[in-house]
Amino acid sequence: MEKISFRLELRWNPLLREWVIVAAHREFRPWQPKVECPFCPGSEEIREEWEVLALPNRFPSLVENPPPPFSSPKFPYKVEKAYGICEIVVETPNHEGDLCNLSQENMRKVIDLFVERYRELGSKDFVKYVFIFRNKGAVIGVSLHHPHSQIYAFPFIPPKIERELKSALEYSKNHGKCLFCDVIKAEKEDGRRIIYESKYMMVFVPYSAMWPYELHIYPKRHLGSLLDTNEEERDDLARVLRVVTATYNSLFDFSMPYIMVFHQVPTDGGKYDFYHMHIEFYPPYRDKEKLKHAAGVEWGAGVFIYSGEPEVRAKELRETCEKILGKIS
Ligand code: ZN
Ligand code: ZN
Ligand code: FE
Repeated sequence: MEKISFRLELRWNPLLREWVIVAAHREFRPWQPKVECPFCPGSEEIREEWEVLALPNRFPSLVENPPPPFSSPKFPYKVEKAYGICEIVVETPNHEGDLCNLSQENMRKVIDLFVERYRELGSKDFVKYVFIFRNKGAVIGVSLHHPHSQIYAFPFIPPKIERELKSALEYSKNHGKCLFCDVIKAEKEDGRRIIYESKYMMVFVPYSAMWPYELHIYPKRHLGSLLDTNEEERDDLARVLRVVTATYNSLFDFSMPYIMVFHQVPTDGGKYDFYHMHIEFYPPYRDKEKLKHAAGVEWGAGVFIYSGEPEVRAKELRETCEKILGKIS
């Protein structure tokens, strides 16, 4: 295996006040290699027996020992070393499938590994935020199809999380309670956007959904991160993730691409008891044939246009979910 030298840095966008990771070495990563899957048992990277495992990302965007920045910016620009860790969670030795194709026991092991990696990576000094996510499907830009999730341990709190934290803090100051707990209450009272409710989780299309079939999973109990979940909640979440992905895959009778993200409290040592962990799914399709594209208004102005009604799509998802429920153990 050739050793790649890292050429990467964080560049500050002074207009949007956001970091951009500039990873020059990532140009050379394999694009859907035809030869050998690096995540299949027996490959160069994985030799022993395993069911789920975390591996370092071979083409990381952030590294534990980052090189000095390669650009020499002058005012008003700013650069930082790209501190962080990028890991892959290989979810099964099987080369094909989605979360719904994993057994309940296997999926539970994936959750346990998420918990362990969140704890381990979050305990590092330079890690302010542990971001767990899953990209699925070629249209999302996935280069390796073997079922896997990813983890980015960031040296800063990502802007989307920062915004949610700010809203939740302000809400708790103004109303004396949790914004997310109140969203659960509002969704329950309305009911039209609920797709599925388990003992511990609420699954719904958000009121102001951006993506056509976007859905969110909120734990009903006020939890900051996976570290706060108990055994039963972990089992339940494992099953709910299988239900949700099975629902997506039978919606149009093809394997639905999606982005799945975990939003949890930062690991920077701050107190965030006003925040409530949740999981978000963004599939890019708006019907069987058409993709929803984020284009001029979305990218250029930051305003999403939702074509259709979230309540109508929620009904489709709910009915699909009811049909597949019997098949999920
Ligand atoms: Zn494979
Ligand atoms: Zn809450
Ligand atoms: Fe969120």
